[in-house]
Amino acid sequence: MNPVVIAVAITGSVPRKKDNPAGPTTPAEQIEAPHPAFEAGAALVHIHVRNDDESPSSDPARFAAVQEGIARHCPGMIIQFSTGGRGRDQAARGSSLFLKPDMASLSTGSVNFPTIVYENHPALVDDLATKMRDNAILPEIEIFDLSHIHAARRLVDAGLMNERPHVQFVMGVKNAIPAEEHLLEILLAETKRVLPHATWTAAGIGRNQSVVMDWGLARGADAVRTGLEDNVRLSKDRLAASNAELVAAAAETVRRHGRTVATTAEARRILGLRPAGAA
Ligand code: MG
Repeated sequence: MNPVVIAVAITGSVPRKKDNPAGPTTPAEQIEAPHPAFEAGAALVHIHVRNDDESPSSDPARFAAVQEGIARHCPGMIIQFSTGGRGRDQAARGSSLFLKPDMASLSTGSVNFPTIVYENHPALVDDLATKMRDNAILPEIEIFDLSHIHAARRLVDAGLMNERPHVQFVMGVKNAIPAEEHLLEILLAETKRVLPHATWTAAGIGRNQSVVMDWGLARGADAVRTGLEDNVRLSKDRLAASNAELVAAAAETVRRHGRTVATTAEARRILGLRPAGAA
């Protein structure tokens, strides 16, 4: 039945928007939140950690606490650390990779965001990719621009990444790639040409979440992504009460496309990850 991995990005933007139904921010909340999402079908959790004042944190102790807690509460769930840059000390973005999460996000180039430059210096990209390779972490390549596909290829050619990364097209961030179906076609065709062994997903930000999910599923995406980090609404007039509610909606979308929701074991097989608990 061609199962689909549901990824949940649990923690919303910082600072919280007035109408943001508060993604989990403390380690204790971040350990609790994924469980209902896991029960609703999420096999992969994308994690940012926060300081006590909710600013983005790079503290390895916080990543370790969340990693350990989720592994205990949600056996087999794929844990993905963010190495994203917003509000973090650039040099600390890879400082938790020694904890060997199953996966980590990796942006392979820079791009404009709504109010900042999302800067990913080539030397930093190489450093993060090297750490992921050395810790046997599967990269999720964040594609905010067509050139980022080619930058990922260069990492493969340099021996910093294997031929089978997971690729995520991020659509609908203002000043980056708009959420338009023909652009997904272009990105996907180019990825299949340049990184033919990669698995892939497409993430729509904000109100684009469900439509981008449909476009990806219609093209055989290996995964879908949801969660309060990207979107806080179930529909135009309804806020999501939780990550689990967004995951349940994603699971319904997956089934509507005639596919099944991947178990954690299936998700690990699809992404080429080691089974849970294996060294
Ligand atoms: Mg993120």
